[in-house]
Amino acid sequence: MGERPAHEEDNMKCLHCRGLMRRSTAPFYVDRHGYHLALDAVPAWVCGQCGEPFFEEREVDAIQGAIQTLDEQTRQLAADVA
Ligand SMILES: [Zn+2]
Repeated sequence: MGERPAHEEDNMKCLHCRGLMRRSTAPFYVDRHGYHLALDAVPAWVCGQCGEPFFEEREVDAIQGAIQTLDEQTRQLAADVA
Protein backbone atom coordinates (compact mmCIF):
# COMPACT_ATOMS: atom_id res chain seq x y z
CA MET A 1 0.00 0.00 0.00
CA GLY A 2 1.00 3.68 -0.22
CA GLU A 3 2.89 5.49 -2.95
CA ARG A 4 4.11 3.41 -5.85
CA PRO A 5 7.56 4.01 -7.23
CA ALA A 6 7.18 5.94 -10.48
CA HIS A 7 9.52 3.64 -12.42
CA GLU A 8 7.12 0.73 -11.90
CA GLU A 9 4.99 2.11 -14.74
CA ASP A 10 7.81 1.45 -17.20
CA ASN A 11 7.82 -2.23 -16.39
CA MET A 12 4.19 -3.12 -17.04
CA LYS A 13 4.12 -6.02 -19.51
CA CYS A 14 1.12 -7.52 -21.28
CA LEU A 15 0.02 -10.86 -19.81
CA HIS A 16 -0.80 -12.16 -23.29
CA CYS A 17 2.05 -11.04 -25.57
CA ARG A 18 4.57 -9.45 -23.16
CA GLY A 19 4.15 -6.18 -25.07
CA LEU A 20 4.63 -2.88 -23.26
CA MET A 21 1.54 -1.58 -21.44
CA ARG A 22 0.67 2.10 -21.68
CA ARG A 23 -1.53 4.17 -19.40
CA SER A 24 -4.69 4.81 -21.40
CA THR A 25 -8.42 4.12 -21.29
CA ALA A 26 -10.50 1.17 -22.41
CA PRO A 27 -14.22 0.47 -22.73
CA PHE A 28 -15.79 -1.81 -20.13
CA TYR A 29 -19.07 -3.68 -20.63
CA VAL A 30 -21.12 -5.40 -17.98
CA ASP A 31 -24.17 -7.57 -18.66
CA ARG A 32 -26.30 -7.90 -15.56
CA HIS A 33 -29.74 -9.28 -14.92
CA GLY A 34 -32.06 -6.42 -15.83
CA TYR A 35 -29.54 -3.98 -17.29
CA HIS A 36 -26.38 -3.60 -19.33
CA LEU A 37 -23.67 -1.15 -18.40
CA ALA A 38 -21.27 0.26 -20.98
CA LEU A 39 -18.42 2.48 -19.79
CA ASP A 40 -16.71 4.16 -22.73
CA ALA A 41 -13.38 5.15 -21.21
CA VAL A 42 -12.21 3.50 -18.01
CA PRO A 43 -8.62 4.34 -17.03
CA ALA A 44 -6.56 1.24 -17.76
CA TRP A 45 -3.25 -0.16 -18.89
CA VAL A 46 -3.52 -0.96 -22.59
CA CYS A 47 -1.04 -3.16 -24.47
CA GLY A 48 0.70 -1.26 -27.28
CA GLN A 49 1.02 -4.52 -29.21
CA CYS A 50 -2.27 -6.45 -28.95
CA GLY A 51 -4.50 -3.80 -27.35
CA GLU A 52 -5.45 -5.96 -24.38
CA PRO A 53 -6.65 -3.77 -21.49
CA PHE A 54 -5.70 -4.38 -17.88
CA PHE A 55 -7.71 -2.71 -15.14
CA GLU A 56 -6.10 -1.99 -11.79
CA GLU A 57 -7.73 -2.90 -8.51
CA ARG A 58 -8.94 0.64 -7.77
CA GLU A 59 -10.62 0.79 -11.18
CA VAL A 60 -12.23 -2.62 -10.71
CA ASP A 61 -13.36 -1.53 -7.23
CA ALA A 62 -14.95 1.63 -8.64
CA ILE A 63 -16.78 -0.35 -11.34
CA GLN A 64 -17.98 -2.93 -8.81
CA GLY A 65 -19.22 -0.10 -6.58
CA ALA A 66 -21.21 1.32 -9.50
CA ILE A 67 -22.62 -2.14 -10.29
CA GLN A 68 -23.68 -2.64 -6.67
CA THR A 69 -25.53 0.68 -6.69
CA LEU A 70 -27.18 -0.13 -10.02
CA ASP A 71 -28.17 -3.58 -8.73
CA GLU A 72 -29.89 -2.00 -5.75
CA GLN A 73 -31.60 0.71 -7.79
CA THR A 74 -32.73 -1.82 -10.39
CA ARG A 75 -34.14 -4.06 -7.65
CA GLN A 76 -36.05 -1.12 -6.18
CA LEU A 77 -37.45 -0.18 -9.59
CA ALA A 78 -38.60 -3.76 -10.12
CA ALA A 79 -40.18 -3.77 -6.66
CA ASP A 80 -42.12 -0.60 -7.49
CA VAL A 81 -43.64 -2.28 -10.53
CA ALA A 82 -44.61 -5.44 -8.67
ZN1 LIG B 1 -0.41 -7.67 -25.58
